[in-house]
Amino acid sequence: MSFSEKDIRPEKLIKAAKVFINSDRKLLLKNKKNFIKVVCPACHSKKKKFFLKKNGFRYSICINCLTYYMNPRPTVEILDHFYKNSKNYRFWNKYIFPASEKVRRKKIFKPRVNECIKFCKKYNFKKPSIVDVGAGFGTFCDLLKKSGYFSKVIAIEPSLEGYLNCKKKKISSINDVIENVKFYKTDKFQVITNFEVIEHLFSPRDFLLNVRKNLVSNGLLIFSCPNGEGFDVKFLGKNSNTIDHEHLNYFNTSSIKILLKKSGYKTLEVFTPGKLDISIIDSYVTNKNIIIEDPFYQKVFNKKNQKLRNNFQDFIVSNNLSSSMFVVAKKK
Ligand SMILES: [Zn+2]
Repeated sequence: MSFSEKDIRPEKLIKAAKVFINSDRKLLLKNKKNFIKVVCPACHSKKKKFFLKKNGFRYSICINCLTYYMNPRPTVEILDHFYKNSKNYRFWNKYIFPASEKVRRKKIFKPRVNECIKFCKKYNFKKPSIVDVGAGFGTFCDLLKKSGYFSKVIAIEPSLEGYLNCKKKKISSINDVIENVKFYKTDKFQVITNFEVIEHLFSPRDFLLNVRKNLVSNGLLIFSCPNGEGFDVKFLGKNSNTIDHEHLNYFNTSSIKILLKKSGYKTLEVFTPGKLDISIIDSYVTNKNIIIEDPFYQKVFNKKNQKLRNNFQDFIVSNNLSSSMFVVAKKK
């Protein structure tokens, strides 16, 4: 199933959101003097070198595992304040998610629910209970419920707007961060999911440890995040929208396994199902009026040859080179 970046990020609204992204950046940078230095968020090595600087933020790259990461970075408290006051998030919840929900539902969340059910079946979870951390607009949880496959569906969403949207969809919801959720005292869960969450966190390891506490033994962890070594991110480098103030951690298909092992999980699957690499590069090149004369690029990216473009995107995906990564792990 093919779709383009415009389908899920309506152009006019994305342009309107720019002003909020800028004010968000300023909000974070106001606290720059309180940012702190960290080691590699995946392998915890101190061996690093300068990677790049963008919009006032600095990124290091780990020499050991090639994860790149914002360093120094905002503390947990600064991030908490940031997400509660982010104008961009408010705008997405109010306008962009509602405007693109139909497409997102069909092209992103439905396939995501199907993937989750596929892995639950593969690893012998029949009618499992499931928690989605960072449930956002609640579309995914809504579809989980409607699938009828899960015995219990719970949404955890720290932002108030997102939480209220989940409630509107009649999903059992908790307005908090996972660190404060203590299911494990009464009821552990069989499956916990989180999509596009760990790249935003000060300490992905602390997050994974907290999730682990709430999982039954051998429970499944299913999540997605950007692949820092993915095609469009590597191609656009500093100009990639993936590299920005909200994303603190850029794992890759190998380094994510190191992090999971260090956090008490066994990795079962890592793959890159991203469908947008070519579309994202196209949007950038078109918007900036850039002409890339490389003959290979001209041939493969030629819009008149949709078949070749699709084949190339398939090649990227089947070789784990796409910039969106999907991971399944079990609690050890
Ligand atoms: Zn590392």
